[in-house]
Amino acid sequence: MERLTDIFGIDVFNETVMRERLPEEAFFAWKKAMEDGEPLGRDVADVIAGAMKEWAIERGATHYTHWFQPLTGITAEKHDSFITPAPGGKVLMEFSGKELIKGEPDASSFPSGGLRATFEARGYTAWDCTSPAFLREDAAGVTLCIPTAFCSYTGEALDMKTPLLRSMEAVSKQAVRIVHLFGQKEVKKVDCSVGAEQEYFLVDHRSYMEREDLIFTGSTLFGAKPPKGQEMDDHYFGSLKERVASFMKELNQELWKLGIYAKTQHNEAAPAQHELAPIYTSANIATDHNQLIMECMKKVAKRHGLECLLHEKPFAGVNGSGKHNNWSLVTDTGKNLLNPGKTPNENIQFLLFLAAVLEAVDTHADLLRLSSANPGNDYRLGGNEAPPAIISVFLGEQLDDVVTQLIETGEAARLKKVGRLYTGVSTLPSIGRDATDRNRTSPFAFTGNKFEFRSVGSSMSIADANTVLNTIVADTLQKFADILEKEPDFEQGVHNLIKNSLAEHERIIFNGNGYAPEWVEEAKRRGLPNLRSMVEAIPALTTEKSIGVFTRQGVLTEAELRSRAEIYYEIYAKEINIEARTMISMAATKYIPAVITYVTGLADSVNAVKKACPAADTGVQEELLVRTSALLTKAQAALTKLRAMDEEAATKKEGQEMAVFFREKVFPVMAELREPIDELETIVDNALWPVPTYAELLYEV
Ligand code: ADP
Ligand code: MG
Repeated sequence: MERLTDIFGIDVFNETVMRERLPEEAFFAWKKAMEDGEPLGRDVADVIAGAMKEWAIERGATHYTHWFQPLTGITAEKHDSFITPAPGGKVLMEFSGKELIKGEPDASSFPSGGLRATFEARGYTAWDCTSPAFLREDAAGVTLCIPTAFCSYTGEALDMKTPLLRSMEAVSKQAVRIVHLFGQKEVKKVDCSVGAEQEYFLVDHRSYMEREDLIFTGSTLFGAKPPKGQEMDDHYFGSLKERVASFMKELNQELWKLGIYAKTQHNEAAPAQHELAPIYTSANIATDHNQLIMECMKKVAKRHGLECLLHEKPFAGVNGSGKHNNWSLVTDTGKNLLNPGKTPNENIQFLLFLAAVLEAVDTHADLLRLSSANPGNDYRLGGNEAPPAIISVFLGEQLDDVVTQLIETGEAARLKKVGRLYTGVSTLPSIGRDATDRNRTSPFAFTGNKFEFRSVGSSMSIADANTVLNTIVADTLQKFADILEKEPDFEQGVHNLIKNSLAEHERIIFNGNGYAPEWVEEAKRRGLPNLRSMVEAIPALTTEKSIGVFTRQGVLTEAELRSRAEIYYEIYAKEINIEARTMISMAATKYIPAVITYVTGLADSVNAVKKACPAADTGVQEELLVRTSALLTKAQAALTKLRAMDEEAATKKEGQEMAVFFREKVFPVMAELREPIDELETIVDNALWPVPTYAELLYEV
């Protein structure tokens, strides 16, 4: 095996490669553009393109692609080869600065929510020089992938990256104002750091191929609970099975080659569930890397006869998958602005940033909720699983006490001791207890020197969540800076600001059990939103409050927001429609016929036994026959109803009306159909059951 340090980043056109291959002048022009956020000149772009092409061709590349992230949530690409005709029937390999900077993929079929009329359907991709180009090797050969933003002819964002980049600039600008007020004038830029932990399931490829629901929707739409779930906690952090271990080994190697800091891997709570966490990096790169991680997981799984499920809830009754989005702000001088230090009560600058995050989350909890909404995540958030749909912040005992003191007196004189953990074994060291402790039920938890936003769905891009976080925090910081810059007595001004802000937004702090039913009541009393589904959350995007914050921060215009809301409704309706149709197909062509075969067998048995021996007891067969037939009738009735509902849905107006219909009318009937079929699965002869069961899917790898 190659050494990790030898392969790390070898497929990336990173700073080291650029320094080696670019003339000094071009290298520093690029570096300056990165640092100051200035556009690159065409001449420099030409030089970079030339070097990039040579590097890629040396490594076997034949094609390049502008790699972008449309609003479908996954990545898109269109490949062009480097060839240009040359005299004598030959070709030259060419790649210009123009081709590097701008692409015209004519990607008119991507959702635009009405932003593009068909006559101007062309979309443009623009090079994002802050995220490095990389090589991808697959059956198509080697392709040079250039991270880009995707926008319309008139410059409106049609992707997830453009607003993310805008939000990073917004939060940097406002955070810099604040740190300057604290005297750190050398700070020019504040970056947001993100580490996204990725959960996923691995199932056997052959079983996967036998289930339409997995193929079409990425999750199971039917399935009775297996006799053993996760109650024994024996999978969590358990030793890796051989097949999984070899998958992880190859995955790590692929990721390391792409310069992704794949760091932690372990088995998760549910059987067949696992997690991978990279070391944090700048939000933009973390977003690209997370997309690559998901893509590699799927690709590498197939090579091992496995399928990787990224759906938020692949199995009912078993833990679903999420993506913990760890987020913080770091200055270009290397200071983490959310690091409390040893004495957070005395760290005024930290407390100001903390107050800003709390105020932002409280003011825009609805936007954060939406940023983590997709149809799959509806089965988790607001279902009976971590975390709840109500957004609240967990601070931990020590910090919570500091906040309470500040609200009461404007000062935090005392600092609660966190103490040490004594293991009771003399040969083991005593361990400093984590001051923030852990509350696994909180959707937004302070964990030491960063916030961990835990609601994001496992299949989602992390772009939206970080765009919202950056934007709302930028807005609060702007408000704070506006106040403080005018304050004659800075020291007193900061104290008052922290005290007032915390007092006003204290309601967002909740350190208790987020699963408890009492919390729902309590949150309601506090006036915190409880948006249980994606459809309920989408209107948050186009409120006056939302339009205000997004336009003030220059992240999304009103037209862009409205188009996004349209797209979300469309995505919701389409996905539920596919789920409903898949259920209809499976019930009609698989489950119901299988049950009929079983019922017929029972009836035949009754007749045959009676005929052979009139005195014999056929009570068992008859009882099963009655029960099964009743469930069959129930299933058929639900199937008929679901068909009718699905047809009616198509007559609704596209957008909100249709999405609401799917949520309120179609969705409950899907549950009605599932129920009798899952029960039948526990009765019918297993040899007749037409698809692999949960037990098979969860335990065969
Ligand atoms: P846990 O499972 O306990 O939450 P992990 O180690 O799995 O911990 O994940 C923690 C994640 O948080 C990692 O991706 C890590 O790089 C990231 N992280 C650590 N510090 C920061 C920071 N300052 N900003 C953003 N992310 C961070
Ligand atoms: Mg975590």
